[in-house]
Amino acid sequence: SGVRENLTYEGFGRAVRELAQTIADDGYEPDVVLSIARGGVFVAGGLAYALDCKNIHLVNVEFYTGVGTTLEMPVMLAPVPNAIDFSNKKVLIADDVADTGKTLKLVHDFCLDHVAEVRSAVIYEKSQSLVKCEYVWKRTDDWINFPWSVEKPVVRRTGQVLDA
Ligand code: 5GP
Repeated sequence: SGVRENLTYEGFGRAVRELAQTIADDGYEPDVVLSIARGGVFVAGGLAYALDCKNIHLVNVEFYTGVGTTLEMPVMLAPVPNAIDFSNKKVLIADDVADTGKTLKLVHDFCLDHVAEVRSAVIYEKSQSLVKCEYVWKRTDDWINFPWSVEKPVVRRTGQVLDA
């Protein structure tokens, strides 16, 4: 359908604070926030500041090629994080949305073997997600417009005049 859930930067600021509060209230104190690039990077930065966690890692996963169109399976792109960095750590995986949940499952399973504990935090979780995240700000089944991807990239090349 054409229904969209529109998250603004202002709404995101509130969402990430409230999500962090939920995690803090639950008593989870992660040693590491592992962000799933690219959308999860925004979430991880906000959560890490709010939770006073200074250790942020990043994993690149490719899955979506367009609105609702995906590769068959998500793939972890190089450089894959060094699992030794997570050994005996409490990890918080941060992403923008668990949709099918396949991306989060991939990263979650990667962590499971190595870490002391792993939990997941997302702004949105859809009902079809095969991963049930410990921390969810809002549930929706609509396609979400995130503030960082809804607008066209701003690309500037020296000597070129771009139309507004
Ligand atoms: P999943 O593996 O859970 O199906 O999808 C995870 C990733 O796909 C998200 O991190 C996000 O980048 C992208 N994605 C899934 N659903 C949506 C959506 O409704 N809106 C946007 N903008 N991206 C989505």
